[in-house]
Amino acid sequence: MSDSKSLQTSLIHSDYQAPEGFGALPVAVHRASTVVFKDVAALRSRDWREKNAYTYGLHGTPTSFTLEARLAAIEGGTHCLLAPSGLSAIAMVNFGLLKAGDDMLIPDNAYNPNRDLGRWLAQDYGISTRFYDPLIGAGIAGLIQPNTRLVWTEAPGSVTMEVPDIPAICKAVRERRSGGQDIHVAMDNTWAAGIAFRAFDHGVDIVMQALTKYHSGGSDVLMGAVITRDKELNHRLGLAHMRVGFGVGMDDAYLVLRGLPTMKLRFDAHDAGARKVAAWLKARPEIERVLHPAFADCPGHETWQRDFTGAGGLFSVVFDERYTEAQTDRFVDSLKLFKIGFSWGGAHSLCVPYRVQTMRSNWTSKGQLIRFNIGLEDADDLIADIEQALGLLA
Ligand SMILES: *Cc1c(COP(=O)(O)O)cnc(C)c1O
Repeated sequence: MSDSKSLQTSLIHSDYQAPEGFGALPVAVHRASTVVFKDVAALRSRDWREKNAYTYGLHGTPTSFTLEARLAAIEGGTHCLLAPSGLSAIAMVNFGLLKAGDDMLIPDNAYNPNRDLGRWLAQDYGISTRFYDPLIGAGIAGLIQPNTRLVWTEAPGSVTMEVPDIPAICKAVRERRSGGQDIHVAMDNTWAAGIAFRAFDHGVDIVMQALTKYHSGGSDVLMGAVITRDKELNHRLGLAHMRVGFGVGMDDAYLVLRGLPTMKLRFDAHDAGARKVAAWLKARPEIERVLHPAFADCPGHETWQRDFTGAGGLFSVVFDERYTEAQTDRFVDSLKLFKIGFSWGGAHSLCVPYRVQTMRSNWTSKGQLIRFNIGLEDADDLIADIEQALGLLA
């Protein structure tokens, strides 16, 4: 799958071999807790870390091994571990690389449960967690301490949408690593789905994906993945995976596999719809700012233009500050096609109001922030829906 075929073709044509005499195209669902060994010698020689044999359901079956291989290939990595949600994939990285006395850096605009986990590890587990300005770029070098082991990145932050300079952050970390420090860059690459941002090519060491979003595309499954290009690093993370017991259900793994062939087409459709709706909103007098990385006034837009090849369906708007929270809540309540709910990557358009002041250390906009996830509906219908709800604002 890593040959010269385009991503779209690779998403459809994988190396999967159907059982002899049964040439079905979908990957079979293999469920198991116990895996039986042929003799005691086979049992004694088992090594779950190598994934060259099946040992126990927690470490996978042919279904999850196939999904892991396909996710690693999509992302341009070599190793992949599945977790039962995107958030548990984040936790796997933290548990795998951090111990008491270590330090970790998280961008101030990161997925909020990632920040919350960081605060918890700091409060109860002796790990120092510091939050940094997502636009810090090469300046991250000044924040790295001798005990810093992990630098999280996310591009863009999925509410306020600043696009960080990932290559600059990775370069600073790599310099410390070549000086002997055990330090890695992890990236939450969920927004770009591994399609619009080639994280490993830009220097990232560990890619985390919430497969819950674009990969599955069905709004019906939770799953996460941690992908690396390094066997030793994968072993460290795999140890955390085993110790904490981050197994996934094989029916869920199948749902994600089923989403992969259409993932890029869906991503591109979300992207086109979102840019159309965002452009329409930008021209409206009620809206102070549109926060969409493809728009020139989004913080980090130049970085997005340099490093990314697409944008997906997610963006936010800041209303003019003359509108109160009660008014913009009414706007959200008046939308008919946009459902009120978290997550993205499914067919339905969604929207969520955020109290950004409570999530960020230095947020200066006074207007209300609403995040839109553009689904797969006709963009003109979505615009008409927003227009009728804006009409009720005054
Ligand atoms: C949804 C999401 C997660 C967490 O995924 P879950 O499967 O919902 O736990 C992590 N990071 C980002 C950016 C997300 O959007």
